Amino acid sequence: MSRPANPETIFTYGAPQLKCGSGASAEIGYDLSRTGARRVLVVTDAGVAATGTPQRVAEQLGEFGIEAQMYDGSHVEPTDESLRAAVDFGRQHGPFDAFVAVGGGSAIDTAKAINLLTTNPGELLDYINAPIGAGRAPQQPLKPLIAVPTTTGTGSESTTVCVLDVLDQHVKTGISHAMPRPTLAVIDPDLTVSQPAGVTASAGMDILCHALESYTAAPYDSFERKRPEQRVPYCGANPIADMWSEKAMSLLAQSFRQAVHDGSDTRARGDMAMAATFAGMGFGNAGVHIPHANAYPIAGQVRDFHPKDYPADEPMVPHGMSVALTAPEAFRYTFPAAPERHLRAAQLLEPGAAQPDDAADFLPSVLIRLMRDIGIPNGIGAVGFGPADIDALVEGAAKQQRLLTISPRPVDDAALAGIFERSLQLW
Ligand SMILES: [Zn+2]
Repeated sequence: MSRPANPETIFTYGAPQLKCGSGASAEIGYDLSRTGARRVLVVTDAGVAATGTPQRVAEQLGEFGIEAQMYDGSHVEPTDESLRAAVDFGRQHGPFDAFVAVGGGSAIDTAKAINLLTTNPGELLDYINAPIGAGRAPQQPLKPLIAVPTTTGTGSESTTVCVLDVLDQHVKTGISHAMPRPTLAVIDPDLTVSQPAGVTASAGMDILCHALESYTAAPYDSFERKRPEQRVPYCGANPIADMWSEKAMSLLAQSFRQAVHDGSDTRARGDMAMAATFAGMGFGNAGVHIPHANAYPIAGQVRDFHPKDYPADEPMVPHGMSVALTAPEAFRYTFPAAPERHLRAAQLLEPGAAQPDDAADFLPSVLIRLMRDIGIPNGIGAVGFGPADIDALVEGAAKQQRLLTISPRPVDDAALAGIFERSLQLW
């Protein structure tokens, strides 16, 4: 990579407070009572509401004299429309002193948007990243937000970003400022015990790619220096994010296969819950790159793939699966930019594995052994794509410049096409 004329010398790190472990979600009433909150909005979606978990959280709040209102209209994969409806609900029924998000990334991201737009003036588009929105920074402080993930993987409980589809422009974008980050993340593995194997496998590959992509991201000092007002939450690989990513990979090495093959193993579930949050602490500050950019068109252009353990009513490639399918070839491509990091990651993910003669093949081979063991499909061909789809996939991935600029090796359309072609069949 060409050296910047005036290299960055500063990196930043932000994170929520954490409460981790079996039973942690039973202490939310107490935790909120410490903030002085009297009226709280519990944000979830219909599917999670059906499990009864958000209701149990709301009941706890009552024991501390806190009034809880429930919003279960979060859209799985939030859209500008669904977020506007959620914000309207918050404005109509507010003001609230605090928010509790119970669910996956969608519920947590929806709560971030409600918090932002009930404490600051303006509308959704004012805060969405430019050029889709105005990219405005919030001026007023936000209210406390407690995030309670019920599916492992997204890391949304530890990141600032809120991801959404802008429907009339057919584009996925986000709001990314430091302020919407949850103030407390409650990581209770008991809430994920009923997650089926297929979901654990896909969500786990998402965790793994968050850790790997932030660990191999272009380092913060490979960019041009920014002015303070230009700083973004994703600043590239840095020593603090590295530490979290390495620990997440070690936890995955220890427990990922086991959590998929025996969901009742509470120690493995606990490790996965921690790995998800730790990886979020890494990528929430460093950023993710090629596999996540490729995941957008893989998920968006699906025709008739129906994964095991997911609702059968509509075709889909789950997020973690869509990220994983091009990961081995993406990391083969980025290997020359930082060989020592790719080799170290392979050793962390499969301690004791022998390094193949071709060093560039070490990390891809570790990933493929894992994907085979946990039932991830054999490449994008196995979820319905063929050679004729490559151009459209490249076009979709190339739109994610925000992610591709964090790739440690410059990536153009030809490079993306090569990665997709070699990912048609992985083994
Ligand atoms: Zn992800």
